[in-house]
Amino acid sequence: MKPTQRDDSRSSKAFAEAKQFIPGGVNSPVRAFKSVGLTPLFMERGAGSRVFDIDGNEFIDYIGSWGPLIVGHSHPEVVEAIKSAVELGTSFGAPTELETRMAKLVIERIPSMDMVRMVNSGTEATMSALRLARGYTNRPKILKFEGCYHGHADALLIKAGSGVATLGLPDSPGVPESVAVNTITVPYNDLDSIRVAFEKYGEEIAAVIVEPIAGNMGVVPPQPGFLQGLRDITTNYGSLLIFDEVMTGFRVDLGSAQGLYGIKPDLTCLGKVIGGGLPVGAYGGRRDIMEMIAPSGPIYQAGTLSGNPLAMAAGYTTLRLLGQPGVYEELERKAARLEAGFISNAKEFGIACTINRVGSMICPFFTDHQVTNYETAKTSDLQRFNRYFAALLDNGVSVAPSQYEGMFVSTAHSDEDIEQTIEAHHAIMKQL
Ligand code: PMP
Repeated sequence: MKPTQRDDSRSSKAFAEAKQFIPGGVNSPVRAFKSVGLTPLFMERGAGSRVFDIDGNEFIDYIGSWGPLIVGHSHPEVVEAIKSAVELGTSFGAPTELETRMAKLVIERIPSMDMVRMVNSGTEATMSALRLARGYTNRPKILKFEGCYHGHADALLIKAGSGVATLGLPDSPGVPESVAVNTITVPYNDLDSIRVAFEKYGEEIAAVIVEPIAGNMGVVPPQPGFLQGLRDITTNYGSLLIFDEVMTGFRVDLGSAQGLYGIKPDLTCLGKVIGGGLPVGAYGGRRDIMEMIAPSGPIYQAGTLSGNPLAMAAGYTTLRLLGQPGVYEELERKAARLEAGFISNAKEFGIACTINRVGSMICPFFTDHQVTNYETAKTSDLQRFNRYFAALLDNGVSVAPSQYEGMFVSTAHSDEDIEQTIEAHHAIMKQL
């Protein structure tokens, strides 16, 4: 594949203008390409595995809107479902039957969830799940893992991954000390540290919240026994176990990460894929806990646009498409091929590279360490990542502009897309 002379003049102009009116020119930090020192691509459209920017450049896309687009951009059935829904009205602020159908479908596929409440983002899902856990247990503290990102609610913006890691920000200003003291952080995959934390604070810990496969410090799978250990410790202490499956939900398996590893959390947070590209989050779990939420119980949570008919239509259609036979096997096959190609390229040119992958979530770290937590993720050569990222773009492949994010393979990626990506990667490894 020949590198293009990539023109970014329109994107540059659009970015300069946006910066006058929007902080940093973007509505979510990592989109600004700040850490890689490039001009962000302003997008015009997406189709299947491809995105097209306003300068007319075409890319094979592995961002997939940061995870939601598991069936690709503008999937015809998803677009049709949204069109049909919009004809009937954009929002009612009243219940619709589609919300119940959606809830039933989610619950059917994730057996730990007896009930589910729809919200509008992953952040809302985790924030609400925490309030629920605290209300249910009547305890103040939560435990999270370094490098895990659970959205931007105050209590969770402590030693967080994703954009917080990418921008090298310590804990965010604006989070009061009085909130931060109730968040305990320990290294991912480290059961001993959790035991120590529980010995000290166990009776005060409302919940452990975890990405069952971490996807916001690059991709870091749980080591054998880690999730079971969390299940056992939380049960022993009467704390709740919350799986934040905003990224992994319906991404790694029809039963999500909990189905893949056979662990039942008390509460689950969802987002991304279940919205099919529209703004959706959800939280759900055990009936006795969920019934504490208003109006059945006293713990308050609400939303003007929650259960929005367009979002439900897009999400429901996406989940239905994912239920067809062989979908996850195909994702696995293509992602495994991508991984094998990357490994062989790096080896050929002697580039230190550790690849972590679970299903269609994949992350090449530029390090020769095994990556099992945030500390080891940080051994990656970020300068090399930045060169790699820029060269990939020039070769027509779009990945997230950060070493601390994964790539997402979608059902729209063809075998040719995968081979073309491996070829582009080969050309790049040569220059790194
Ligand atoms: N949890 C996880 C695991 C996530 O990956 C994200 C977003 N990347 C969130 C929560 C927050 O979701 P949102 O951006 O929709 O608020």
